[in-house]
This record gives sequence, structure tokens and C-alpha cells, in this order.
Amino acid sequence: MESIAENLLTVKEQIASACHKAGRREDEVCLIAVSKTKSAAAVREAWDAGQREFGESYVQEFLEKVEAPELSGLPVSWHFIGHLQSNKVRQIVDKVTMVHGIDKVSTAEELSKRASQHDLTVDYLLEVNVSREGTKYGLNPDSVLQAAEQCFALPNVRLRGLMTIASPNPDTARREFAELRVTLDKIRKNAPDPSQLTELSMGMSGDFEEAILEGATMIRIGTAIFGWR
Ligand SMILES: *Cc1c(COP(=O)(O)O)cnc(C)c1O
Repeated sequence: MESIAENLLTVKEQIASACHKAGRREDEVCLIAVSKTKSAAAVREAWDAGQREFGESYVQEFLEKVEAPELSGLPVSWHFIGHLQSNKVRQIVDKVTMVHGIDKVSTAEELSKRASQHDLTVDYLLEVNVSREGTKYGLNPDSVLQAAEQCFALPNVRLRGLMTIASPNPDTARREFAELRVTLDKIRKNAPDPSQLTELSMGMSGDFEEAILEGATMIRIGTAIFGWR
């Protein structure tokens, strides 16, 4: 098995070649290393190899990792990428760089309220269920515009864009990524400050090339860096 550092190099080469193919600069795509179910020691290994952005999906595990001795004192940038229930917002609000999985206006409102209690401004994304599979979280693509409009005025939070998990088939995934991009463009048209709405968090180990070709600005890679879960 390859080391985490070697895997990171490989993934970065693949990102570079996808960017080249897409006519985009490499620095337009932020690599988030998804460390869910993996140890703090594994995160540390990636950190030592230069990785700074990490993604976690489960609140309890995330809180444990934030406090882990292996990572103490290190400036790790944490993205919460799992589905976030409203009653858990309070536990993570002051520890995250960005929250990716908000799929209800009421959760964004709770994030706003808790962020203001800490005197923070927290960046977040609305999760969209582009595949329209009933088993997945996320706003229906048809209702995300309206949801975004309700979110614009919330204090102490900044809606930065959209996030999705695509269908397993890469061709279908590519179409869904394109739909997410078009949806973000529509939201920007009505936004008070379109310059804030720049992020498309899409693409995982199996489909990040397609995502980059369709404009992903953040890709969330677990397996290709840390191995199978
Ligand atoms: C687990 C997870 C990932 C990473 O998936 P891989 O296929 O292991 O790269 C990305 N995004 C979300 C929301 C996840 O839960």
C-alpha cells in the first residue's frame, strides 16, 4: 500500500491534469482531504505532507479529532461536510472553516444564531440533491433558489455556494455537476453580493475529474488519500 504522502502526490497530479484539460489553473481547485473514520495520526501524516484542509462528516468524531494530541497547536482548516442537524450546530460552529452540508433554511438560521453568539462569521454551502435520489440529503434543485434567497439576509454567516454528492456513474455525475454550476449561476443573479457566491463543492475520489471539468472549486477526497474505509 502507498503512503498517505504518496497518495496525496498522486491525487495532486491528477488534479493538475484535470485542470489542464479544463483550461483552469490548479489554484482554482481546493483539495479537501476527507478524514472521516481515519485516525488523528493519519490526519497528522497528511498535514506533515503539506495538506491543510480536511473534511469530517460526523460531529462526535470531528470534535474528538479537533482535540487530538497529534494535532494540538496545528492550524488545521476543518470543513464539516456531513449532514448537519440543527441541534448539533452549536457544537461545531466555532471550530469550522466552512460548513458544506446545510439543506434547510432553518439550519442556516441556527448557524447564524450560534455564530453571532461567538461573534463569528461562518462560511457555508447549501447542499443540493442533484441526483434527486430520495435516499440522499440535500435541497431539491427546484427549491434551492428560493432557499438561498431566504438565507441572504442572515447575519454572521456567508452563503458561499453549493455542494453536492453526485450519482455513482461518472457520466451521470458530470451532468449533475453541470446542473449544480448552472444552479449557482442562477442564484448569483439574484444575490445582493454575487462576488461571495463562488464555491462549488463537488467531486469525490471516483468523480473529481468530471467535477473539475464542470467547474468545481472544492473537491472532497477521502479514499484516494487515506485508503478504503
Ligand atoms: C466520505 C465523503 C467524501 C469522500 O468520499 P471518497 O469517495 O472516499 O473520496 C466526500 N464527500 C462527502 C460528503 C463524504 O461524506
